[in-house]
Amino acid sequence: MKTLIIETANPKIVGELVAVGRLFSATPDIVVLGPGELSGSYGAAYRVADTLGANIGSALAELIRKEGYELILLSATAIGAGIAGPLAVCLGAPILSEVTGIGTDLSIERSLYGSKAVANYKLEAGPLVLTIKRKYFEAAVLEGSATTIDLPVGPQRITLLEEIEEERQGVPLEDAEVIVTGGRGIGAAENFAILKEMAGLVNGAVGASRGAVDEGWMPPGAQIGQTGKIVAPSVYFAVGVSGASQHLAGISNAKCVVAINKDNEANIYKRARFGIVGDYKKVVPALIKALKENA
Ligand SMILES: Cc1cc2nc3c(=O)[nH]c(=O)nc-3n(C[C@H](O)[C@H](O)[C@H](O)COP(=O)(O)OP(=O)(O)OC[C@H]3O[C@@H](n4cnc5c(N)ncnc54)[C@H](O)[C@@H]3O)c2cc1C
Repeated sequence: MKTLIIETANPKIVGELVAVGRLFSATPDIVVLGPGELSGSYGAAYRVADTLGANIGSALAELIRKEGYELILLSATAIGAGIAGPLAVCLGAPILSEVTGIGTDLSIERSLYGSKAVANYKLEAGPLVLTIKRKYFEAAVLEGSATTIDLPVGPQRITLLEEIEEERQGVPLEDAEVIVTGGRGIGAAENFAILKEMAGLVNGAVGASRGAVDEGWMPPGAQIGQTGKIVAPSVYFAVGVSGASQHLAGISNAKCVVAINKDNEANIYKRARFGIVGDYKKVVPALIKALKENA
């Protein structure tokens, strides 16, 4: 089955998409979005330099029609989801988002309603656009690097004036093995310093609930949940987070959730393997002390 991956040059995400693509094609083709060295080997590798261009959907659709791709794989990230919708419209093709399982017989599983339900589908005929949820497929090892051919996107009718790259420090949330997330219970922007200190001791990343982001204490890029990032760390500390369903949707694949909340009836305890009921201002310094003693 002719398969096309569309993704940035991020080797971890591409590795996951290649793992899915290889179920249907020994060497799937790829369109890499933006700059960066592309790892792995592909049947054909194209590059679209301007990922925010207004014509990207129609340029990709033209390639897909010309080459006869039947399966189009993107990641269920902001970039993948942003392109998948317009692309499906340009192609007049069905789209399934947040895919968590796929069989060689094209049976497809995806999560719904912020991971509260699972739906199963069977594809009869392509082309089909899929966005693949991160961390559900073990990334394929990508050996070597691929040469790409520029894919023309045609004259733009909209000019991009400015692109500001999000500031990033430390491990990206999507790749972190340990995440320390603060919610509205943290009380102030400066109080996140203690969570950053704790995360730093375990090479972890700091996340935020929407409550904390709405308060302006953390940037939107740190938000975890249905309308934020989907994460899958080994250990997830939820500090001063109530555990609303929209937040839990972002951590459905976290292995061990540790909740620290002063309300022993907070919903987060239903998802947590370990719970510490108390004021985080007392609990977190004690955890930091223990981590330092055991370092
Ligand atoms: C369409 C939609 C999409 C959404 N998407 C998201 C999303 O992606 N991510 C997300 O997080 N939310 C999302 N939300 C919002 C969500 O419903 C909740 O409002 C939000 O998660 C609440 O954030 P919070 O838990 O930090 O705050 P709160 O609900 O205010 O909870 C704060 C918690 O802190 C505890 N606390 C207070 N002080 C302390 C202390 N000193 N020590 C310990 N604990 C303390 C309290 O007991 C409480 O449980 C979405 C909502 C909608 C409608």
